[in-house]
Amino acid sequence: MPDQIPEQIASMAALAPKADVQDYKYPPKPLAKRDADIRVTYTGVCATDLHMIDDDWGLSRYPLVPGHEVVGHVIAVGSSVENLSVGDVVGLGAQAQACGECEYCKGGIDNFCPNRKFTYFENTVDETGEHVHHGGFSSYLRTDSRFLFKIPAGYHEKYVGPLMCGGLTVAAPLYEYAGQKWDLKGRRVGIVGIGGLGHMAIQFAAKMGAETFAISRSANKMSFCKELGADGFINSSDSEEMAAHAGKFHYLLFCISGGDIDINHYTGLMRPYGTLHFVGIPDKMENFSLMPLLFSRLTLSSSLIGSSNQMHAMLTFAAKNNIKPIIEEFTHKTANKAIQKIREGTIRFRAVLKNDLI
Ligand SMILES: [Zn+2]
Ligand SMILES: [Zn+2]
Repeated sequence: MPDQIPEQIASMAALAPKADVQDYKYPPKPLAKRDADIRVTYTGVCATDLHMIDDDWGLSRYPLVPGHEVVGHVIAVGSSVENLSVGDVVGLGAQAQACGECEYCKGGIDNFCPNRKFTYFENTVDETGEHVHHGGFSSYLRTDSRFLFKIPAGYHEKYVGPLMCGGLTVAAPLYEYAGQKWDLKGRRVGIVGIGGLGHMAIQFAAKMGAETFAISRSANKMSFCKELGADGFINSSDSEEMAAHAGKFHYLLFCISGGDIDINHYTGLMRPYGTLHFVGIPDKMENFSLMPLLFSRLTLSSSLIGSSNQMHAMLTFAAKNNIKPIIEEFTHKTANKAIQKIREGTIRFRAVLKNDLI
């Protein structure tokens, strides 16, 4: 019998802020002409999922089915879907929809569409109406096919999830800095913070040809970072080491989430016209001052995810260069264990759930 979306989709949902996820069933929305149905195979668990489960940003709605690093197989398509067919392996990231009509969508930066819809923060809209959109802690999803991305053949599905949010988030700013191409030869790039995002960022920067340094307070991560492709390692808690690299960096990508950060600790590493770019959000920025930026004409910037075009480019580049997140595998039913390890900070380095709800 062909696989088809069930009348009730099995999922794991948080029913209240900070609650464990538990079994939850919901009916699929009506099939719109641009929808595709997917059977979820894997979904990654991102730190944002935990913030959303906990309602840290006041955006959460319950029952909340998390998961925005989704991988699945297309099992049906709506009447006007052209880019996908049944059997395709696809990924869905943090953005589930954009209008397709506005200047940003037409200009190739649909991640800034005023009508963008994040995967489970907001309702998606189509000719069948407005519907709650759930995430990849589901066994199946019915979703706008324009935000399903084909996964290059040969790339193992279990590694795809973390690329869909974390991978795009670190790759897009590097790609933009390089002028929308995968070439950073001649640039010295530092990846600050070696965790779920940083360990992917090292691989992207190194494969783009940058002279890539890992910058971390944990000196014991040095050999690991070199295995990932880093040319060098700087222990950021060692002031002599930091001073030895003063004025050498074109670009720093900060992949640290939470905690306090003292920017002045890093500005000394920069060459004139250097860029300090943040993809993780520190809780606080201590002693923030424009003075060091002013004296060296530095740029401070920040971003999350990227556009559809960048997602396609990132997936192709990752597959071609064998860039892979390091994952710990759990299942949908054991999602709470994965969440617990992320909360404790003991996950190495991204959690992935295999769908066992079918
Ligand atoms: Zn995420
Ligand atoms: Zn738009």
